[in-house]
Amino acid sequence: TINQAFQSLKATRPIDDVWVRSDEYHNSFLIPRDEALEYARKNSTDHGLPEIAVSAAQGKLLHLYAKTIGAKKVLEVGTLGGYSAIWLARALPEGGELTTLEIDEKHAKVAQENLDHAGLTSKVKIVLGPAIDTLKKIPTESQYDLAFIDADKESNLDYVLEAERLVRKGGIIIVDNVVRQGRVADPSNTEDATLGVRKLLEHLKNDKNVDATSIGTVGEKGWDGFIYAVRL
Ligand code: SAM
Repeated sequence: TINQAFQSLKATRPIDDVWVRSDEYHNSFLIPRDEALEYARKNSTDHGLPEIAVSAAQGKLLHLYAKTIGAKKVLEVGTLGGYSAIWLARALPEGGELTTLEIDEKHAKVAQENLDHAGLTSKVKIVLGPAIDTLKKIPTESQYDLAFIDADKESNLDYVLEAERLVRKGGIIIVDNVVRQGRVADPSNTEDATLGVRKLLEHLKNDKNVDATSIGTVGEKGWDGFIYAVRL
């Protein structure tokens, strides 16, 4: 029976593997192998960077969002090795620019290598330093089309407030890792990252600057989710 088949599947394959397999299957149709992205991942791990970049499918979704709105200026908070930056920058037209903020010197150096290798040197500017300091220096007239927030989760609200100031009306603000395998909604969980997401949700509840939703995701990175907000 189907149920027996399911039981044997469960017995032989941990649940996470099912989602790894599922992403691999879908990606085999929709996301061609890509030398620059593979180089970025390998070079990042070779330099000891944590393996916490977005998945290929999530990277492509960011790319598609940017394309959908014809983004010319994109802001990213949290560069790591530049994996999501490559996806985002590739969506930009000639003359488009991605500004990505990173606190860790080694991460920024590896990201620069990866972006250079991907031929994106002229489209991407990495700004080293605490993101909040950099954000506060960016003039309000900058008018970004899209902001992707993926750094220290405790500061989510501070970053979103700055993104609301900097993203044009009709632009998009995306915040990663807001479900955290259900921990955000688990009252017994008081991790800093969890508290950071809850604080952001509290703010968004009555925020007149954006309209937002949380989308749970499951894939090779396990069970998590992101907030998608449109600037009103
Ligand atoms: N967006 C990247 C990707 O998908 O390829 C992954 C970013 S990783 C989850 C988070 C990054 O934020 C790390 O590289 C970390 O050093 C950086 N970070 C943490 N705190 C920061 C801060 N206060 N300011 C700027 N960057 C910070």
